[in-house]
Amino acid sequence: MRRKQTKRLDIGFCPLCGRAAMWLENAVKLQDGAVICGECVRKLRVMHPYPQDPKDNKNDPLKNLTASQAMEAMGKVTGFIENFREHFDYKNAVFVVNRVNKEGGGLFKAPVHCLYGRVLYGSFSTHDDAMVKHRGNLHACRLQSVQLMVPYTDSPTHAEDHAEAGYPALIEIQEKNLNIETGDLIVK
Ligand SMILES: [Zn+2]
Repeated sequence: MRRKQTKRLDIGFCPLCGRAAMWLENAVKLQDGAVICGECVRKLRVMHPYPQDPKDNKNDPLKNLTASQAMEAMGKVTGFIENFREHFDYKNAVFVVNRVNKEGGGLFKAPVHCLYGRVLYGSFSTHDDAMVKHRGNLHACRLQSVQLMVPYTDSPTHAEDHAEAGYPALIEIQEKNLNIETGDLIVK
């Protein structure tokens, strides 16, 4: 009985919130060896985004923080998001397009625009109504799908149809006359 319990908690408690940290829930080991839980990792992502290339997780900026720096960052998250909102006209969410891939499409069929990028702040879900901001112009559109490029947890349900601040994601929009290029934004 006792042994089982020890095993379950073997990476200890999150120094930020006191929850048990678990690798399966994407706990992150910080520079000073402290391990913060997956929930705190998600909250801090807006300030310390996941590398754009999911294979590049060795360069995760969160891993360079100490526990006290992470604690300090936690206290600044709300203000940080508020600054973003102010900068982006009080939109609830912003996605930055890094790469565009156009697939399919024909005379009567609209092509699918595959937009690779990162959620700057807020979150996006499949079927959200949003706007494409292209060279200062806004164009209303519906998001056909939203996929997270790295899972928040090992549970695959978390990775589908929803992407949050600081995580790389793929957003697909199927539309005939859509002008979109690298550097454009999806806003909500
Ligand atoms: Zn925590």
